[in-house]
Amino acid sequence: MNAMSEATFCGQHPERETSLRCNRCDRYMCPACAVQTPVGYRCRECVREQEDHFFSGTNADYVLVFAVSAVGAALAQLLIGLIGGFLILAILLAVPAGGVIATLALQLSGRRRGRWSGHVAAAGVVAGSLLFALFLGGLGIRTLLLAGIMTVSVFGRYRMRI
Ligand SMILES: [Zn+2]
Ligand SMILES: [Zn+2]
Repeated sequence: MNAMSEATFCGQHPERETSLRCNRCDRYMCPACAVQTPVGYRCRECVREQEDHFFSGTNADYVLVFAVSAVGAALAQLLIGLIGGFLILAILLAVPAGGVIATLALQLSGRRRGRWSGHVAAAGVVAGSLLFALFLGGLGIRTLLLAGIMTVSVFGRYRMRI
């Protein structure tokens, strides 16, 4: 077994033998150092680098995302409220409405995201729904349900990283 004789060790833990390699930078890493990503195992440094690149949003983006989400949520509340009908219809419409809001917010902020974009967008939806409730709709079960579902939907859309 000649191939086995050349032992390789983790770059962070020289005492740990491993054959696992980062698929980006090729360095050896033990299972404790490896991070599972959708594209395979990577070392922590590569993951951090990717994230810094990915999370390029600025504070101005956060403000924009918040504003778009708030206005979008208030509009969605208004429109879905106008449609009326059964509560189930409102629930069914809330999911795509959240998706539209998140897509719009992403597009308007140049598709940049910060680490907290999802949270900011979700907060925007809550704020927009509250404003709607305060000035137009009242805080009924429909408004609350819509707010809850849209919040989850918007946050989920941001988590998808598309
Ligand atoms: Zn790496
Ligand atoms: Zn290690």
